[in-house]
Amino acid sequence: MATIDIKDVTKVYPNGFKAVERINLSVGQGEVMCLLGPSGCGKTTTLRMVAGLEDITEGECQIGGRRVNELLARERNVAMAFQFYALYPSLTVAENLKFPLHAEGRSHAEMDAKVRQVAKTLQLESVLGRKPAQLSEGEKQRVAVGRSIIRDPECFLFDEPLSRLDVTLREQMRGEIKEVLSGLSKATVIVTHDQLEALTMADRIAVMRAGIIEQVATPHDIFAKPANLFVAGFIGTPQMNLIPASFTGMVGGHGGFALPGGQKVLVQVDPAVGGLAAGTGVTLGIRPRNLEIMPEPVPDGLTLQVDIVEPMGAETLAHLSDGAQSMRVVCDWRVPIDEGDRLHVRFQPGYVHVFGPDEQAVRS
Ligand code: ATP
Repeated sequence: MATIDIKDVTKVYPNGFKAVERINLSVGQGEVMCLLGPSGCGKTTTLRMVAGLEDITEGECQIGGRRVNELLARERNVAMAFQFYALYPSLTVAENLKFPLHAEGRSHAEMDAKVRQVAKTLQLESVLGRKPAQLSEGEKQRVAVGRSIIRDPECFLFDEPLSRLDVTLREQMRGEIKEVLSGLSKATVIVTHDQLEALTMADRIAVMRAGIIEQVATPHDIFAKPANLFVAGFIGTPQMNLIPASFTGMVGGHGGFALPGGQKVLVQVDPAVGGLAAGTGVTLGIRPRNLEIMPEPVPDGLTLQVDIVEPMGAETLAHLSDGAQSMRVVCDWRVPIDEGDRLHVRFQPGYVHVFGPDEQAVRS
């Protein structure tokens, strides 16, 4: 079975810095797991420990059910692709692709067949005779990916594989890599700090912060059910509005909240919120696209002033405030909004998140 299991793994660098602390992660056969998080949170360290490029201080890493802590990188049968593709400049694309196969003692006919197969998958057939200097960035990236999938490793590890591409190529490559990986049935770990890359390519995402894993879930659940304040604020563009509030109690299935500055809202919330004591300090979360502009004030909404209007093409992003708090709303570009307007916004039912004093989502 091509699986990766990381069990209670900690990494302390020789200078005493703890980069990763007791993380647990299982990547199943055929699964693509993205490690996502801000710079310095320990993503690359985690990947390098799986690859065998960094010692594991505590805990265990298994590949295919076998402990690999003591194995050298080359004994682990993993394929890695880095953001710096490191192609051999004097070799053609075909020779670059073939390079990893030399160590496997295959016949020339076998190696050529493999190169043709990988070139076909990654649409590199027309450039097989070129040297890296004669390739576009996207083609170079595909050669690097091809070189890592040409062998038959137990798993794939990618470190920011698309970071050097421009926006259009990234979009295209995200789809291509996803398609290639889905045909390989291996465990794959992709490190990225780009949430769109993670949301589009992953089967599951592990969100990391400061050496720990904050949540592991499907892209849908990471977005729709963030486990805590950090994940809520980290995923989604524009960022989720996070509003400090005081819980005042449940009224007919709706939660009442008092906001700084005196405004009150009564919004549909998860029934678990009813378990909080009145007066508990919480954070309300609502995404800018889930605020609805209303013609008049509503109990499940607020009235705020428009400070800044940012046209974004199909949509408009407006920054609102009432002196005590600020929020952002995204609406269709045809909605007329001007700076200085007073706007009534409603919290759409089913989209309000409540985070308790421990910053965890209050959810049943
Ligand atoms: P980025 O997205 O910027 O690459 P990352 O999440 O991949 O970040 P890591 O490269 O895993 O982060 O680094 C995690 C932390 O460990 C950082 O604070 C980094 O400075 C630190 N670190 C990395 N390598 C070493 C080292 N050899 N010795 C000491 N500290 C290190």
